[in-house]
Amino acid sequence: MTTRPQDIPALRRKLLAWYDESGRTLPWRIRPEDRARGMVADPYAVWLSEIMLQQTTVPHATPYWEKFLAEFPTVQDLADAPRDRVLTLWAGLGYYARARNLHKCAQIVRDEFGGAFPDSEAGLLKLPGIGPYTAAAIAAICFGEATNVVDGNVERVISRLRAVQNPLPPAKKEISALAGQIASPKRPSDYAQALMDLGATVCRPKNPDCSICPWSKYCAARAAGNPLDYPKKLPKKKMPTRYGAVFYLSDGENLLLRRRPETGLLGGMMELPGTDWREDKADESDWLSAAPLKLNWEKAGQVQHVFTHFKLRLTVYRGEGILPKGVHAPLSDLKDYALPTAMVKAVKVGRNF
Ligand code: SF4
Repeated sequence: MTTRPQDIPALRRKLLAWYDESGRTLPWRIRPEDRARGMVADPYAVWLSEIMLQQTTVPHATPYWEKFLAEFPTVQDLADAPRDRVLTLWAGLGYYARARNLHKCAQIVRDEFGGAFPDSEAGLLKLPGIGPYTAAAIAAICFGEATNVVDGNVERVISRLRAVQNPLPPAKKEISALAGQIASPKRPSDYAQALMDLGATVCRPKNPDCSICPWSKYCAARAAGNPLDYPKKLPKKKMPTRYGAVFYLSDGENLLLRRRPETGLLGGMMELPGTDWREDKADESDWLSAAPLKLNWEKAGQVQHVFTHFKLRLTVYRGEGILPKGVHAPLSDLKDYALPTAMVKAVKVGRNF
């Protein structure tokens, strides 16, 4: 079964009717009934949610979104905040380049746009950290522009609906074109959010619930009984592992930290002093030559963390002594330091040893 051009109005109608009835209520979202009461979406709140949701799920992102909105109620407040505070609030969400871009973007909106986000997909695309998906989503959700919003959820739904045989990522263009054929020009904001919701709550990766899906009658994968075969994907490359060591050095009250270089992975975040991360396992004497002090270091344990393109294995050494120059972070206030998750894990190992 394939979707015929004459089915497109029905696909739009059924998806929007399902959304009116069953779409999610989210703190940054204006539901159709809210809009009928005159409420409008706040581009700042929607932008924040979209940037956070690029890397995580709604339940994980929501508390971060609430923290940001409570501390920085407007884009101006966020732009005025010290960058370190932004990184600290972001810590735990990962992908820290996004936090740096978030701050940069807020400053550009403040300085060049008088505190108001550009109101078109093309204008939004010029801002740092806003790629094609995010620009399309904000333009549709906040400004009612009839864009074509395609994220991983939407790729899954469309590839199942149309039984797209090409694997991802090469099939991205084809799927985007198919999605664009169905997108609603009349209710772009609701349509974009409806399709996201369908992917997140019904056409789920592992257990799609075709019995309640508004598109079940038109879905090629459901008709063939094989939704889980889609989207087709190219085989994944094996992820390399990198190795390194970090040093948990404390004087009993403070912990020695340092700031990572501004650019590159985890740029500007705090970390325990340590070695470079390399693809070959060094031996212990190599690791210890990078220690911030000559001490009787004890091996406290190992931590593993998975980044987008590699796994990291860190050996954690622990020592006590007078802290050399660097950032001396009170052990009782470590939450005020922008420590990425890999370092939070290493600090725990050092602390509990
Ligand atoms: S019918 Fe099933 S596989 Fe097809 S779009 Fe709906 S939930 Fe996904």
